[in-house]
Amino acid sequence: MERIKVGVLGATGMVGQRYIKLLENHPWFEVSYVAASPRSAGKKYKDAVANRWLIGAEIPEGVADLTVQDANDAKCALGKCSFVFSALEMDKDAIKSLEAEYASEGIPVVSNASANRWTEDVPMLVPEINYSHLDVIEEQKKHHGWEKGFIAVKPNCSLQTYMMPLHALIQAGYPVKRMIVTTLQATSGAGYPGVSSFDMIDNIVPYIGGEEEKTEKECLKILGTVKDGKIENAKLPVVSSTCTRVPVVDGHTACVSLEFDLPEDKKPSLEEIEKVWTSYKSVPQELNLPNAPEHPIVVRHEENRPQPRRDRETEKGMACVIGRLRKCNVFDVKFIALSHNTKRGAALGGILNAELLKAKGFFDSL
Ligand code: NAP
Repeated sequence: MERIKVGVLGATGMVGQRYIKLLENHPWFEVSYVAASPRSAGKKYKDAVANRWLIGAEIPEGVADLTVQDANDAKCALGKCSFVFSALEMDKDAIKSLEAEYASEGIPVVSNASANRWTEDVPMLVPEINYSHLDVIEEQKKHHGWEKGFIAVKPNCSLQTYMMPLHALIQAGYPVKRMIVTTLQATSGAGYPGVSSFDMIDNIVPYIGGEEEKTEKECLKILGTVKDGKIENAKLPVVSSTCTRVPVVDGHTACVSLEFDLPEDKKPSLEEIEKVWTSYKSVPQELNLPNAPEHPIVVRHEENRPQPRRDRETEKGMACVIGRLRKCNVFDVKFIALSHNTKRGAALGGILNAELLKAKGFFDSL
C-alpha cells in the first residue's frame, strides 16, 4: 500500500520531534514535509535540530535531509503532503488562523495545539471516547466551504491521564457527579527549553498557566454529544483541579477523587470499577488501528505504582496506567493515574487520531 505523505508543522519542537520519530516506518503515513518558525526555515532538518534533538535515537534517515519550511506559509505545503500534524507553539490566534489556512488550501490539520479546541465544529478527539464527534467534520467543511480540508484536534495532555477511566465508568452506567484532580506534570509538557533548570531541580512549581481551566472544561466537550452538526457539552462532572509541574522528564501523573451521581446502593464497588477498567475496549481496538493499545487502561496492584519512570511506556506509551484504587472519605473513590504526555498525550495520540480519520474514510479524497 502506498503511504500517505504527511507534513509536521512545528517539527523541530518537543512534540514535533516525537512525531518525526514515531512516524518512522508507520504503515500508513510517511513524513515528506517539515516546517517550523522562520528561524529554522531553509535549514536541513538535521541542522535545525542539531543541538536540541531530544529523542534518544537517531533522526530518521528520510527526514534528516529534508529542508525545513516556514510553517506560516500554508501554500508551500501544497503538493508536498496530503495532510499535516500541527505541533506549533505560537500565539493562539495566529495558530487558529494558520490552521484554518491549511484547511482552506485543502490540507487537513490534525492538531495538538489548544487554539481550535473550543471551535464549535472542531472535534476534540480521544478516539476511544468520542469517535462519534467525527460527525461534525462534514458540517465544519460545509460551513467554511472547504472541499477537502478540515481541522481535528487533541485535548490537553494532562486530561488523557484520567479521561479513559472516567469514560469507562460513565459508559458502564456509573455517572460521575464531581471530581477533584491534582496533576503532577512532567517538564517535557512545557516544550523545549521549557521551565528553567533552576526552577525544576529540587523543586515543584505549583502553577501551570491556563492548565487548570483546560482540565476543568475540556472534559465536558470530550464527553459531549453531537446534535445538529455541533457538539453539545456534557453538564457533568463538575471538576476542581490543581496542576503542578514536577521534576520528571516524561509522564503526567494525576491524583483523582470521584463522586458518583448515584444513590448509595447503586454505587460500584472497587472490584466492579476494576472490572470496568480492565475490560475497556473501543473503536480503535475494534478497527485494529496501528497505534491502538491492546489494553487502553492497565490497572496495577502494587502499593507504590504507577510511577512515571517505570510505567509511562506501558502499551508503547499509549495506556492509562492506574494504581492505588481505594475508598475516599470525602467522595466515593480515589486513585492515581499516569500517561505518557508526549506519546498518548501528544504525538502518538495525534497519530491515533489520524489513523481513526483514515480508517473512517476522511482521507479518501486526498
Ligand atoms: P516547543 O518545543 O516549544 O516547539 C514549538 C514548535 O513551534 C517549534 O517547531 C518551533 O519552531 C515552532 N514555532 C515557534 N514559533 C513559531 C512561529 N512564529 N512560526 C512558526 N513556527 C513556530 O513546543 P511543544 O511542547 O512541542 O508543543 C507544541 C504544541 O503542542 C503546543 O501547541 C503545545 O501546547 C502542544 N502540546 C504539547 C504537549 C507536550 O507534552 N509538550 C502535549 C500536548 C500538546 P522553531 O524550532 O523554529 O522555533
